[in-house]
Amino acid sequence: MKTLKCDLCEVTAKGETFEEWMEALKPHYMQAHADVMNNPKNGKKEMEKWMAENKARFDAA
Ligand SMILES: [Zn+2]
Repeated sequence: MKTLKCDLCEVTAKGETFEEWMEALKPHYMQAHADVMNNPKNGKKEMEKWMAENKARFDAA
């Protein structure tokens, strides 16, 4: 089980795998960073970039 910080603030989420961590972080993200999620500029490409960056962060933790 790894604990990793949100990429935008100090809140942490836990998960055995990156996918679990992402699921655990999702409610926080929707609440605290809804503006980021709803930004039309953040399309599929940005989402993929976010996933790649955070997966690397998770693997390094
Ligand atoms: Zn956050």
